[in-house]
Amino acid sequence: METSPENYSCAIIGGGVAGLSLAIQLADAGIKTIVFEKNTYPFHKVCGEYISMESWNFLMELGLPLAEMNLPMIREVGISSEKGFMLRAPLASGGFGISRFALDNELFALARQKGVTILENCKVQFVKQESRHITLITTTQGTFTAQIVCGSYGKYTPSFARNMQEPKKNINYIGVKYHVKTNFPDNRIELHNFEGGYCGISKVEGNVCCLCYLATADQLKQAGNNIKELEEKVLHKNPFLKKIFTESEFLFEEPVVISNVTFHKKSTYENGIFLLGDAAGSITPLCGNGMSMGLRASNMLAQLLISFFKEDVSKDALIHAYALAWNDQFKFRIQTGYYLQSLFGKKNTTHLVLKALNAMPRFTQKIIGLTHGKPF
Ligand SMILES: Cc1cc2nc3c(=O)[nH]c(=O)nc-3n(C[C@H](O)[C@H](O)[C@H](O)COP(=O)(O)OP(=O)(O)OC[C@H]3O[C@@H](n4cnc5c(N)ncnc54)[C@H](O)[C@@H]3O)c2cc1C
Repeated sequence: METSPENYSCAIIGGGVAGLSLAIQLADAGIKTIVFEKNTYPFHKVCGEYISMESWNFLMELGLPLAEMNLPMIREVGISSEKGFMLRAPLASGGFGISRFALDNELFALARQKGVTILENCKVQFVKQESRHITLITTTQGTFTAQIVCGSYGKYTPSFARNMQEPKKNINYIGVKYHVKTNFPDNRIELHNFEGGYCGISKVEGNVCCLCYLATADQLKQAGNNIKELEEKVLHKNPFLKKIFTESEFLFEEPVVISNVTFHKKSTYENGIFLLGDAAGSITPLCGNGMSMGLRASNMLAQLLISFFKEDVSKDALIHAYALAWNDQFKFRIQTGYYLQSLFGKKNTTHLVLKALNAMPRFTQKIIGLTHGKPF
């Protein structure tokens, strides 16, 4: 099909890890792709910035020179209770640390270099299917058309993609992130529980630590919507956190904060849009694997889209095959995440669970294994 300058084979809404990696794979297959990103690179995001090793080879194959970036390789975990107990365990498959500021910016540069059109500071406002083959995308920088539209817009579903059956809301969290300098080993990630939430710490590039936590929106309200007060009144009750918060050098003037964070499976295709990354369903950060899930989903969807554009599969078959592949890969992992989340962030329960896991190292390894996927 002849394309006009504003007509694309594939349009991707949202340039985070899922959207950018999908764009790179499509560009590698010669598919004309555009990405709309409402922010301007590079920028910070609320994220624990730990990526499981399952994504290492995939990112290298995309063209990201991870091996040359001198990144901290993380091989053990510590999980503490508010009562001051710390469970220590090896991370069999492990992970590595890289800031979202660096990662998303590297993927952005790579995608551009491979010929993807990326519009920054460009918010998608409306998506309308004109016909089975043409979708109209209205943005703050004009209107575009595409044969296939993918939504990788993250955890907040925009109004144009919302249907009538949004799942009922579970607990509403806030996410807060800092970069700090502190005395912390390269090879370790720690998760510190406090009443209502937990805080992760691990190294990223440049000898900096990412310190990132989830607390409930109610707790913030009770602290007069004051983040400092929330930290002093709630997080500091965990002695490990009190030490980190009082002894670290904080590198941001203000933390990066997000609100209205919920975790649930959504859908893989909605209102004519293929969904991936957090847009299709988000996992609790406790499992530390949302990025790997987004990257893996991009790989599954890219392969199916490449077949579709070669006219090997119909669109209906594509919708069906993607839903099957997604559920096969992630449904169980997401459920495990919800279950684990229910055991964390509770003073007595968490303490007892950690003590029990400490006595059963093999079982602990099994649980950790359920949250990490195999390399792809
Ligand atoms: C507190 C917390 C800690 C976490 N820690 C970890 C961790 O340690 N490891 C891990 O793997 N995962 C972690 N996660 C999860 C991880 O951050 C997400 O799973 C991951 O960012 C999802 O990537 P994505 O590409 O789907 O979405 P995002 O990275 O959120 O990207 C979506 C992009 O879409 C853009 N966008 C949105 N709407 C529009 C629009 N209308 N028009 C144009 N652009 C739009 C946004 O600006 C954004 O850049 C954590 C999450 C939270 C909340």
